[in-house]
Amino acid sequence: MKIEDYIRDIPDFPKPGVIFKDITPLLNNHQAMVETTDQLLKLVGDSKIDKVVGMESRGFFFATLLAARLQAGFVPVRKPKKLPYQTIAQEYDLEYGKDILEIHADAIQKGEKVLIHDDVLATGGTAHAVCKLIEKLGGEIVQVNFLMELSFLHGRKKLEPHQVKSLLQY
Ligand code: IMP
Repeated sequence: MKIEDYIRDIPDFPKPGVIFKDITPLLNNHQAMVETTDQLLKLVGDSKIDKVVGMESRGFFFATLLAARLQAGFVPVRKPKKLPYQTIAQEYDLEYGKDILEIHADAIQKGEKVLIHDDVLATGGTAHAVCKLIEKLGGEIVQVNFLMELSFLHGRKKLEPHQVKSLLQY
């Protein structure tokens, strides 16, 4: 089974000029979803993981599935004012302007081993902000992994020195 057959390109979404990688066909197919989870697990190997952190909102799907399989907890990172408990925040740069991501202050304990997962690595700004949040809480980042990497944007450079892995490169 080829995972890429279940990812479709949507031109001009969410704005003109952007080709959006849509993973809903992948989620819609049980076999494709399980195969993707298996392949992402292979990227992690035998590393011990205490928490899997997923980014709102498409990062949640496979981060949760990975956490269950790794016998780890799942931690959501969300846009401001979405998380109900005490949070810490990290600002980061967008193409135009800035945005903020938040995590619950008690979600990760000092020294816990963390896997970060998101669907797409583009410029790396989002994942970089998540790394900073985890480091503020004292977590140890084992790997940052993605379903897809838009290699021409060089996002992995921004995430150095962390280990970055992706299933599909475009
Ligand atoms: P970055 O911060 O530039 O690396 O952008 C990554 C974030 O944008 C991730 O949270 C992705 O979910 C989202 N993203 C960027 N491009 C796409 C796409 O083509 N499909 C789905 N999500 C995307």
